[in-house]
Amino acid sequence: MERIRTPSAMRAWADARRAEGARIGLVPTMGYLHEGHMSLVSVAKAAGSEVVAATIFVNPMQFAPGEDFEKYPRDEERDLAMLEAAGVDAVYLPGVGEMYPEGHQTFVDVTGVSQGLCGAERPGHFRGVATVVAKLFLAAKPHAAVFGEKDCQQLAVIRAMTRDLDFGIEIIGAPIVREGDGLAMSSRNAYLSGEDRIAARCLSRGLFRAKALFDAGERDAGTLVGAARKEIETEPRAKMEYAEGRDPDTLAPIAGRVEAVTILLAAKVGPARLIDNITLGKTIPGRDAS
Ligand code: AMP
Repeated sequence: MERIRTPSAMRAWADARRAEGARIGLVPTMGYLHEGHMSLVSVAKAAGSEVVAATIFVNPMQFAPGEDFEKYPRDEERDLAMLEAAGVDAVYLPGVGEMYPEGHQTFVDVTGVSQGLCGAERPGHFRGVATVVAKLFLAAKPHAAVFGEKDCQQLAVIRAMTRDLDFGIEIIGAPIVREGDGLAMSSRNAYLSGEDRIAARCLSRGLFRAKALFDAGERDAGTLVGAARKEIETEPRAKMEYAEGRDPDTLAPIAGRVEAVTILLAAKVGPARLIDNITLGKTIPGRDAS
C-alpha cells in the first residue's frame, strides 16, 4: 500500500493507474477508522474499482472556531493497518500545509442543498467539505468515489458539486453501519463514555420508532418526525439541534402526507455532536433493502 503525502505525488499515482487502464475508486475520510469507513472500501470494490485509494485528512476548513478540530481523534498507524488489511492500494495523507499553502484563497460553495440542517448549525461547514473534496478529486482523479449515507446532507452536497462542476465522477452512497444497539458508527463516538454512550441510543431509537410507525401505515410526515423527536427530547442527556423530514431525492422540506421521507436528526450528547438519518418508503440505489 502506497502512502502519499503531496498533491503532485497523488496525481502521479493516479496518472500511472489510469495509464494502466485501471478504474480508480476513492474513499475520503478524516481517519480514526471504524467499520463504517471500511464498508466504503468494500462498496468501492463491489462497484468495480480495480484500485482503491483512501484519504485521511482532518480538514480544518470544515470546522468552525470552537468546534472539535484540535481534539478530533487521530490514530494514523492503526488506520494504515486497517486500510492495508482491507486491500487498499494507496492512502493519501496530505498535511494541512500541503492542502492549504500560504495564499490559498479559492473555495467551492454549493448553495441550495447546503442550507438548513447541518448547514444552519455549522456555518461554513459545507463550504469546507466541498472545497476539500474537490481538491481530493483533482489529486486522486477517481472514476468513482464512495460516501456514507450517515452524512446524508454531505452526500447531497457532493452529488450537486460533482454534477455542477462536471467532474465526471460516479458518486456512490453507502448504507449506514451501526453498532449492535443501533448507534450509527462515528469517530466522534470516541467522545462518549458511560451514561452518554447509553443516552446516545436515543437518535437511532427515534428513527426506528418512526420506521415502525411507517411500516404500520402512518404517512403523516409530522407524526413520523415527531416520534423520532420525542425520543431525543425525553433523553435528559441529549440536546436536540434538529429533527426534520425531507424529500429523499432533493432534501427539500416536506410536510403532510408522504409516500417517502428522509428523517434527519442532530443532537449533542455530552461532548459529542451526533447525526443520524433514515429513509422510509424508498430504496436508494446501492442501499440495502433492509
Ligand atoms: P468521516 O471520517 O467521519 O469524515 O467519514 C468519512 C466517510 O465515511 C464519509 O463518507 C461518511 O459518511 C462515512 N461514514 C462515517 N460513518 C459511517 C457509518 N456509520 N456508516 C457508513 N458510512 C459512514
